[in-house]
Amino acid sequence: MTGHPLRLHTEDDIPRPGPGELLLRVLACGVCRTDLHVTEGDLPPHRRGVTPGHEVVGEVAAVGEGAADAGFAAGDRAGAAWLRWTDGTCKYCRRDAENLCPRSLYTGWDADGGYAEYMTVPAAYAHRLPAGYSDAELAPLLCAGIIGYHALQRAELPPGGRLGLYGFGGSAHLAAQVAMARGATVHVLTRGEQAKRLARELGAASVGDAADMPPEPLDAAILFAPVGDLVLPALAALDRGGTLAIAGIHLTDIPPLNYEKHLFQERQLRSVTSNTRADAREFLGIAAEHKLAVTVHPYPLDAADQALRDLEAGAFDGAAVLIP
Ligand SMILES: [Zn+2]
Ligand SMILES: [Zn+2]
Repeated sequence: MTGHPLRLHTEDDIPRPGPGELLLRVLACGVCRTDLHVTEGDLPPHRRGVTPGHEVVGEVAAVGEGAADAGFAAGDRAGAAWLRWTDGTCKYCRRDAENLCPRSLYTGWDADGGYAEYMTVPAAYAHRLPAGYSDAELAPLLCAGIIGYHALQRAELPPGGRLGLYGFGGSAHLAAQVAMARGATVHVLTRGEQAKRLARELGAASVGDAADMPPEPLDAAILFAPVGDLVLPALAALDRGGTLAIAGIHLTDIPPLNYEKHLFQERQLRSVTSNTRADAREFLGIAAEHKLAVTVHPYPLDAADQALRDLEAGAFDGAAVLIP
């Protein structure tokens, strides 16, 4: 079994919240590509047999000692995301870049995540969730949405600019809507007929194959597909001064670049590493103001392995969500 869904047999199996932690009863947990990288070993294991899942919508079932200071009470709806803990004292944390904290810990990698009926989260890293969404719709906002938003910031899309999205899954379909709400023209380059159809439905100005040239030069682009080969066409599609942000935590090797064709004219290539809590708050604030269309495919918790296999095969558009 690769997905490690955790079914409880007795009350004793329910984890107890430590100091500063909340116990969440999981209502929904999104299935993210990073879960595949954790379960398949593309990311080095941090804890043997860890329960994956870091797009967790839960109900606060218990509040650990001191955790009430963060403002959560039993019965509240709360979210747990990828970033689980940072030291708060290193030079990155002190300059508001806690996403770069070398001591940071991650949900579903360093600690058990949401492919389960219950999990714990440090209250200071739990998120308040916007109204107007179902539990299943909220789940993908907590990684796909937040990371897509952080990637959009890293791509430095100018107001009213032309944005290219390479790959169009759970994260891209949310970033596209945020960009369009801000007046951007969005071009989608992806394989898969369902993804292309969804891109058209959401209002993409053009939809092409993954390595196609978009119909106009791009001011900014985000690579969501974990495919290093696509860095080349994405850089070649940038206008002068344009920026390509790579959103994934894992990417296959990038082939050699041609300086003239891919980088000259001050084009920039950037990576995206996790997100800060401030990114999460900003994005969830946008989601509260603009109702985002979230395409979800529910699976029962027991079918976590199938959901991961379907994600790997590109069998659905939008995002898979496990419902315990
Ligand atoms: Zn730090
Ligand atoms: Zn994720």
